[in-house]
Amino acid sequence: MSKTILLVDDEVGILRALTRVLQRAGYRVLTAENGAQGLQALVGQQVALVISDFRMPGMKGSEFLQQVKAIYPNTIGMILSAYADRDALLECMNSGAAWRFLEKPWNDDQLLQEIDLALAERDRRYAESQRTNLLMSSDEALLELSANGQVLRFNSAATHVLGLQPSELRGKVLADLFDDINPIELATFFHKKDHDMVLHCHRDNYVSISHRISDLYHYLLRLTPVQELRNQVFDGLASVLDLPTLRSRIENMLLSQQPQFAVVELSVMDYQRFSDTLLEALLDELLVRCAEMLQQNLPFKALLAYISADRFAVVFPDHKSETELQQQINQLLSPFNTQMQIGVDRLQINFCVGYALSPDDGDTAKQLLHHAGVACRQNEANPKAFYLRFDREMVELKRQHFEISNSLVSAMEEQQFQLYFQPKIDLKTGRCDEAEALIRWHHPTMGWVSPALFIPIAERDGQIMAIGQWVLEKCIQQLATWRQQGVALKRLAINLSGRQLQDARLPQILSGLLAHYQLAASTIELEITETFLMADIQSSAELLASLKAQGCHLAMDDFGTGYSSLAYLAKLPVDVLKLDRSLLLDLEDSPQCASMVRHMIRMAHELGLQVVAEGIESEGQVRLLREMSCDLVQGFVFSTALDLASFTLYLQQQPAVAQLEQFADA
Ligand code: C2E
Ligand code: MG
Ligand code: MG
Repeated sequence: MSKTILLVDDEVGILRALTRVLQRAGYRVLTAENGAQGLQALVGQQVALVISDFRMPGMKGSEFLQQVKAIYPNTIGMILSAYADRDALLECMNSGAAWRFLEKPWNDDQLLQEIDLALAERDRRYAESQRTNLLMSSDEALLELSANGQVLRFNSAATHVLGLQPSELRGKVLADLFDDINPIELATFFHKKDHDMVLHCHRDNYVSISHRISDLYHYLLRLTPVQELRNQVFDGLASVLDLPTLRSRIENMLLSQQPQFAVVELSVMDYQRFSDTLLEALLDELLVRCAEMLQQNLPFKALLAYISADRFAVVFPDHKSETELQQQINQLLSPFNTQMQIGVDRLQINFCVGYALSPDDGDTAKQLLHHAGVACRQNEANPKAFYLRFDREMVELKRQHFEISNSLVSAMEEQQFQLYFQPKIDLKTGRCDEAEALIRWHHPTMGWVSPALFIPIAERDGQIMAIGQWVLEKCIQQLATWRQQGVALKRLAINLSGRQLQDARLPQILSGLLAHYQLAASTIELEITETFLMADIQSSAELLASLKAQGCHLAMDDFGTGYSSLAYLAKLPVDVLKLDRSLLLDLEDSPQCASMVRHMIRMAHELGLQVVAEGIESEGQVRLLREMSCDLVQGFVFSTALDLASFTLYLQQQPAVAQLEQFADA
């Protein structure tokens, strides 16, 4: 089928001339005289390429192509114009909305050559988006390799099958992941795309790899564990189905138009800990006992399957409401309320539960199982309730996480991160002598992405180490620059993530950077969150002590969101307590809240700590905190986080001095 090209130009003569050239070359051509008409012409058409004039009445060509890109990301945009505003054109090209700029008058042969290139680019983008969609939505284990065999992307099922962390996979080649690869067999495999190959992976199981969709430049491979786990563990338990059998039973239920039924996924909580500590035979025994207990309690006509290492699926065919389903799940899991004797250990087994309901949450068996799994994993990652029903937003969230996770890799190389600085105001003087460095990420298509969203993902994927190192170095470098410029800032606070704090090299890295930039450690304050500290008080106390010994200030961030234990605080070498925004929201309206905060500040002072109140938005909060002798305030009432230039100006102008006086006078 011939490819379709849309031409947009306000000069009808040009549209006619171009149409003739393109039709002669075998393209299907649509035309429009302005951007608005152009957008209408695109509806319902599979347009591969849009060639637009730049200067047109109404919408400019750049604006039009930006909109095209937002709605049809795989369609290529080109500008063909005698004139273009340089800045708008650059922005349009940099954002990817326009792929090429061609000058009028054009040369027919050159134009057709450019179109060939543009269409090849479109095919590349289309194939990429297909691979992306598969990676995101398929429950098969998928691994994407570049033409030279390096791992580019993968989904969580692939990490699961290979038993590796995402950071252990990225950038590797197949030979790093599997043992004894025969190079000739490997070459044949990549050459003949209908071949599959069985390889032995380090986790000690065999995995079959086959091509899902591959082209000249990218291979998307499917990984399938060869030894069916179920067969190994559940040889004697025929009533525990395997995944393919459960899938076909569900298909049959759908075909026979069985009214509402539920697909429930149960994952053994803390399985990793069991698997790390139990002998293999005992781990199998644990799974078999779980299966037996589930089987004994299974309602009439319900189905039970073992679907992967720590996961079971149950289909409940018979319930009148969601409440009834939840009662059935409670009933099914009630025997697990008592501990289980495995070998010499008594173990408490808990399950994490997610479910999907037919017909609302999926049309096929594959979808229902996938969606129950999505809900279960979401519940594991962020436990809100005992059971969680699938919700379409979860897929959206997963998609967003996936996109963030993949983009984080290039974000650093492409210098998409920036540091912003939020002033901390001294409540005695109104001066800003300290600030907190906060990272900002401008993603080329998603725009600004909140650190609250991407930092946890970077933590999970291991990218946080590189990001954290970048933040440390940038902060120290900036402090050195300010010192050279004579800009006074007593101290800059830097957020450290839990992973960074588990890295025993941290004190060394820090002292190396400080020495390189000839900076005193006392200009740095490291913010650590309470949740991390409480997780392993002994080793964190040691690491904090060595950071402290160098002369850094230490702050406990987000106090009030976790354990909030002042008793622990006394044992740790921290200098500063940061009261979280959530503790201070009701300060003005609730006498109980005010009294609690007053006590906290007093006790912190008795422990010799400085107190910073975070997220302060109102004048009333500032007045109360000042009266309670809180030391510093950080929040929108004084300033949001500022970019480098604005913050440097803020330091010079010190606007909060007058602001605080006004608050006192009011
Ligand atoms: P955090 O360390 O508790 O930082 C304070 C957050 O509260 C910042 O959000 C800040 O912009 C916001 N905030 C400050 N004043 C107000 C206010 O008056 N009202 C409200 N509603 N919010 C206020 P941000 O910048 O989005 O950062 C969120 C979290 O991301 C930070 O919480 C921190 O945990 C993490 N983060 C930010 N930058 C870094 C970094 O460089 N490294 C690491 N590891 N984590 C970072
Ligand atoms: Mg902080
Ligand atoms: Mg905080």
